Amino acid sequence: MSAGRIERVVSDADEGLTRTATLDRLRYGIGWLTADGRLPTTASAARPLSGRRAITLAIKIIDRSGIDRRVLWWDERRSGPKRHVTLRTMLILLIAYQVQRPDRDMVFLDVAKWALWELSAQDRVRAGLTHERWNYYKLVGAFHGFVELIDDEDSPHRIHQSGVIRERIAELSSRDRILNALIAASIPDACPATKVAAMDSTDIETAAALHAQLARPDGDDEYVPEHAKEEKKWGVPISQLLKGADGRFILSADIDARCGYRTVVNGNRSTNFVGWDAHVLVDAGWYGALYYVQFIRGMVLRPAGSHKGDAGIALLDSIDDRFAVDTLCSDRGYSYAVPERWARPLLHRGITWVHDLHPNQRTQRGLMKHKMFKHVVIVDGTLFTNALPENLRSLPAYHPGMSAAERRELTAKYDARANYAFVPNGNPKPDGKWQYRGPAYLGHVDCPNVEPHRAIQKGAPPTNCVEGGGCWCDKTPTLEPDEHLGIRQKYIYGTSKWLALYGMRNASEAKMADLKRNFGTLRRASSTVTGTTANAVLFAIRCIAINTALRHSAYGDEVTLASTDVRTVPVGRRRHSQRPTPAHRQKGPKSRPQRKSGYVPSQQEATR
Ligand SMILES: [Zn+2]
Repeated sequence: MSAGRIERVVSDADEGLTRTATLDRLRYGIGWLTADGRLPTTASAARPLSGRRAITLAIKIIDRSGIDRRVLWWDERRSGPKRHVTLRTMLILLIAYQVQRPDRDMVFLDVAKWALWELSAQDRVRAGLTHERWNYYKLVGAFHGFVELIDDEDSPHRIHQSGVIRERIAELSSRDRILNALIAASIPDACPATKVAAMDSTDIETAAALHAQLARPDGDDEYVPEHAKEEKKWGVPISQLLKGADGRFILSADIDARCGYRTVVNGNRSTNFVGWDAHVLVDAGWYGALYYVQFIRGMVLRPAGSHKGDAGIALLDSIDDRFAVDTLCSDRGYSYAVPERWARPLLHRGITWVHDLHPNQRTQRGLMKHKMFKHVVIVDGTLFTNALPENLRSLPAYHPGMSAAERRELTAKYDARANYAFVPNGNPKPDGKWQYRGPAYLGHVDCPNVEPHRAIQKGAPPTNCVEGGGCWCDKTPTLEPDEHLGIRQKYIYGTSKWLALYGMRNASEAKMADLKRNFGTLRRASSTVTGTTANAVLFAIRCIAINTALRHSAYGDEVTLASTDVRTVPVGRRRHSQRPTPAHRQKGPKSRPQRKSGYVPSQQEATR
């Protein structure tokens, strides 16, 4: 075999290995074998871009987002001298700097050095860095100009020392919408949002000096992580601490940062931190999905300890209109919220929720409003006929340390229990009323009170109902929204179907790992800006960099930002994996299902 041929074979094989293996990592957030084994298995396969390509990408993202005419337009029309570094140029430089190497810390001095020494003169011109008197301070000034422009209406930073309030421009959309439009522009149209999305939050610590620490966070969130530790108080006594406009303590030199619970990772007990909760919405796939990339579709930043339900709903409302969510998986940080602040708003938006339950929510409940409440019982958020055998009433929860066999055994128990369940008839009505079909109506149990014409499935377990006792097994009751809506869900808790959907939630956790470790290096003092909006801008730029790195490592140059046709996205053949196939891919349709809302095909696609 000639040397050239060997080289070709080797490089082909390399490419195949790296690409498909990367896909595994994208989906499950697990390590993979690199082609040559020189890099640790968790390292990103996306190579650093040239300065030229990074600038090109940043310009494309800015242009695609429409931020020029929607937002930056207002800055150009303000009174006073023209900026030496425009907001557009500043955004292009920051995005290009982060996209080129997502693991960089965002330090403005380094950005200025990079623009000065590493970019070619031509690239500086393309970015708009043409004023002969541009310098570091003008770059930082442009960043603060952007933050001031998009800052919230009620932000304390709008009040000048002299007491003058800088009004927000009324025509401008919200900060979250503006930043999520930028993130949306980093995903090609050819990769529409998947049917199932996952939401999670992580902590961003403030880099500012801490003055004190509280024993417990002072937010209004109902959710408290299990086994949360009481922190040792230290620093300035509480009586001397200042409070913000939200009535919460200011604990650091950053007046926007607040105290909240840190996300529980690897079973560590949750402790306090001061900073922000970053909520992220991620593509999580769909039933039977074979191939997709977990793009970050949107984010919001809220002071730590703020209500998670409220923040999650704000995130859903601020994402690009094309990305409307169909089914949402979230952990109990969200689902523990009172129904008025989570389940009800989701219902109004036509979103199906899939969530885990807090131990407090896994108790038996009744339906006191109904005359026949004796005949039903709510267990783990599911309405059951009271004929449910005692031994199936209290099943253990799933936990990460389970072996596959233990998990299968438990799923079988939940599936057996589901025979006795009232099954929701589709989604709830907009007014919150939700109709259920009884287990005998569906033929899942054999009840003596069933209508004679009803077909009972073979092997359906008999119930202990009294004949003529007026049980509900064959009925189709409708429950009101005030009857435990917050814990009820469309897919019956614990069953294999629920598990398949809930398992897709790890998409959001994988993205947190990408932001913090695999691609990026988000940690305390990764950037030292203060204020919610400034940190949100930098976090959005990190999300853009992660999306770009994901696209490059999954598709190389085959899918670009200009790609619009879903059919041009390669569908790779999966490498045989040692890991068991995740539940959501074991069964179900292999093709992309119809979305009930959301993705609107572009015009070219519709006419084709
Ligand atoms: Zn019955």
